Amino acid sequence: MKGVFPLNKFKETETPFYYYDTGLLRKTLRSINIEAGKHDGFFVHYAIKANANPKILNIICQAGLGADCVSGGEIQAAIDSGFSPDKIVFAGVGKSDKEINLGLDKNIFCFNVESIPELSIINELAAHKGKTARVAFRINPNVGAHTHANITTGLAENKFGIAMDDMEDVIGIASSMKNVKFVGLHFHIGSQILDMGDFASLCNRINDLQNRLETHRIKVENINAGGGLGIDYTHPNKVPIPDFKAYFDTYARLLKQRKGQKIHFELGRSVVGQCGSLISKVLYVKHGSVKQFAIIDAGMTDLIRPALYQAYHKIENISSDKTVQTYDVVGPICESSDVFAKAIDLNECNRGDIIAIRSAGAYGETMASQYNCRPLPKGYISEELQ
Ligand SMILES: *Cc1c(COP(=O)(O)O)cnc(C)c1O
Repeated sequence: MKGVFPLNKFKETETPFYYYDTGLLRKTLRSINIEAGKHDGFFVHYAIKANANPKILNIICQAGLGADCVSGGEIQAAIDSGFSPDKIVFAGVGKSDKEINLGLDKNIFCFNVESIPELSIINELAAHKGKTARVAFRINPNVGAHTHANITTGLAENKFGIAMDDMEDVIGIASSMKNVKFVGLHFHIGSQILDMGDFASLCNRINDLQNRLETHRIKVENINAGGGLGIDYTHPNKVPIPDFKAYFDTYARLLKQRKGQKIHFELGRSVVGQCGSLISKVLYVKHGSVKQFAIIDAGMTDLIRPALYQAYHKIENISSDKTVQTYDVVGPICESSDVFAKAIDLNECNRGDIIAIRSAGAYGETMASQYNCRPLPKGYISEELQ
């Protein structure tokens, strides 16, 4: 089964480009709102870094989600697309003074702080402005997610967060500072997680920590569980919408939510991943001595995930029904790692055929580069190519 696309429009549009099915995006957002809405105090932010295309941000903002930002540029992009600052959270191990000042000027909801030196600087910069910054502490819960090593973030060896054992001390330091206010705890264990057991482990860690903090009479208003829910890269047509019910129900069942406490989530990939495809044309079919190559006009500059994480994306020749053959699908960039897939089956490829690289809505367009002096890929929403 192949995806359904406006093939004739694709043929007259300069390739490569990203194509976003906004119908699917809206259905996905509806599912998030329904499933999260079943639980009191659950609030979902969208992790801007997954896809910051303004047309996409606008749709997500209209669905009522907040924004999770990891840079000043993302805070600005969120505000420009209509996100209210009181729904913006700001994480990152290396926030610059300029970025912190932007967050203070815009009165964002919360800084997710990752170290004590960072806390001191936020306190200092807030004092200069005569403001109080709301802060949550990002905790490294030492939970391993069963995902690729480069996208695991919650292990003791990773650079993110503050060790769980140091929490009482850190909260004590914060309460001695005049210009920061402790408002919650923040966690994020990794990405592309499909095993609900990993989120269950996180819930257990959060419960342990809350119990411990309560023995010190520390009350936590907000728990931010981060993001990380994965998508089905193998079956984008069969499973276009992730299992948000199982995800939110896991937290509702296992996380011991205190009275009046808010539980925040920061979903990125699961919101936008399946609605995007990278559309490309076949430039040449080259018959090597042992294999044949489909050389396409998209490269690792447009979609770096296969080169960076050995990530799998389903690839379809959407303009051919000819018999299936085996190809290595490669881009034009001068790097051996510029390979989208090896030895995959595609309907026979000829010059000019349209190739769809599926499930590319997250960490695709946002990670594009201009290496080899290539232009950045354009992004079109379905309304633009009808
Ligand atoms: C990247 C990131 C997310 C989103 O992760 P997904 O796997 O795309 O859901 C959430 N929170 C933080 C702090 C992040 O860095």
